[in-house]
Amino acid sequence: MATLLHAKRRVSAARRSWWVDGLEALVWLSAATGIAFMIASGGLSYVETPADGAYALGRALGIVGAILAMAQMLLASRVPWVERALGHDGAIARHTRLGTVALVLMLIHLVLMTTITAGYDGRSVAAQLTAWPEYGWFMLAAQVGAVAFIVVLVTSFSAVRMRIPYERWHAVHLLVYVGVAFAVPHQFLEGSTFRDGGAAWWFWALWWTVAWVSLLGYRVVRPLVLFIRHGLVVESVTPHVDGSTSVTLSGRNLERLRAQSGQFFLWRFLSPGLRGQQHPFSLSAAPGDRLRITVKPSGDGSRAMASVTPGTRVWCEGPLGIFGEPTRTQDSVVLVAAGIGITPVRALLESASPDDDVTVVVRARSREEAPLLEEIEELADARGADIHLVLGPRGTGWSSIDQPLTLTDIVANPSACDVYICGPREWAESVQADAARAGVAPSSIHREEFGW
Ligand SMILES: Cc1cc2nc3c(=O)[nH]c(=O)nc-3n(C[C@H](O)[C@H](O)[C@H](O)COP(=O)(O)OP(=O)(O)OC[C@H]3O[C@@H](n4cnc5c(N)ncnc54)[C@H](O)[C@@H]3O)c2cc1C
Repeated sequence: MATLLHAKRRVSAARRSWWVDGLEALVWLSAATGIAFMIASGGLSYVETPADGAYALGRALGIVGAILAMAQMLLASRVPWVERALGHDGAIARHTRLGTVALVLMLIHLVLMTTITAGYDGRSVAAQLTAWPEYGWFMLAAQVGAVAFIVVLVTSFSAVRMRIPYERWHAVHLLVYVGVAFAVPHQFLEGSTFRDGGAAWWFWALWWTVAWVSLLGYRVVRPLVLFIRHGLVVESVTPHVDGSTSVTLSGRNLERLRAQSGQFFLWRFLSPGLRGQQHPFSLSAAPGDRLRITVKPSGDGSRAMASVTPGTRVWCEGPLGIFGEPTRTQDSVVLVAAGIGITPVRALLESASPDDDVTVVVRARSREEAPLLEEIEELADARGADIHLVLGPRGTGWSSIDQPLTLTDIVANPSACDVYICGPREWAESVQADAARAGVAPSSIHREEFGW
């Protein structure tokens, strides 16, 4: 039985990595196909001068930029086949990377097309920008889209982003979809590649349909369905001595959410002050007919969780994340947590089967500052898991001055374990480096970041 489970985990880990490679290959293949369609429609046949070459380059960059924009919409859509392959943090990291390249390519496309067409028509760039009535409304729409892209690009530079509260930055960031919506019509109505029906038109229409349906379906329609179907409400709010607060939620048929320990949701509490904010919080207990989160006050939104009242309705997106069973490769598990990073670890410990060989490592300055510690100890006791409390001020590695430890001091054979790490970034990096030194394969080291 155990061997079967082991083989199943290995196969699903391999399948996941094929999915990741497959998705990347699909994006670049689609970009190449788009350019092939451009060439097939005579996109290079007129090239005689350097200006013609720059014009053709501008068109090609526009096509690649649009494919990357479609891909970044898919990555941000929370569509399950992307989430399961990459994990939410992996998808968001790629979304950020591809999104930036897409915006830059589309802006270069705009600059090249405008300046070279202005040269062809013998007028200034400003005159070219206002000559949209000669082409049609869709060119004005494309220019409005470009303005949205510039605003998003500028506010995404970390120097600017850090100065803006997260919610405001996110609201501005959503302009990228407005920009994309305004840019799409000119792709079908101007230029020769995707205008006249046929294979190129269908290829382009299919890609845009998949991107928009995924985005709207999983960011708008599905959360609305969950809201109506499950009627999630706050059942109780429990403060803890370390300053964190647990919020228990109840609703109808919560098992149909198919949430797993280690996962998180994006929560919106419909109470005054919190209605306008959405926050990611991991489940801090194994999901069943109730869901529970535990929140440490770190800013306005998380601080307000302590004053949420029972009966408050809750909007959510999820479950999200692949921290836990979906990424297991080994029979033994080491769960390492610090601070509020204990939340997914506590849920994973609760749902561990009696056959699982589990070791839990909790890092804190003192017992009093460790959230949910008593619950962790009880669960470890009930499941026969090894528990190691590493207390005291910071040392040189991830452990403390008082107890300088490495993973090899705690687990006999780290290379035969999956190591799940959740805690502050610098600390988690140190545990990850220690796990790698101890011989744990990269595919068996899993980190949940409480930020992206
Ligand atoms: C996957 C994941 C799971 C998490 N689980 C927990 C948990 O179980 N318990 C817990 O206490 N904390 C958890 N966090 C951290 C928690 O989401 C942030 O501390 C909280 O959103 C901060 O909001 P704030 O208004 O209190 O602070 P702010 O000062 O407004 O925000 C501080 C920072 O938090 C991040 N943040 C805020 N809102 C969001 C958002 N909607 N999406 C992404 N990042 C955001 C931003 O980087 C922001 O700069 C988790 C974070 C992630 C990404």
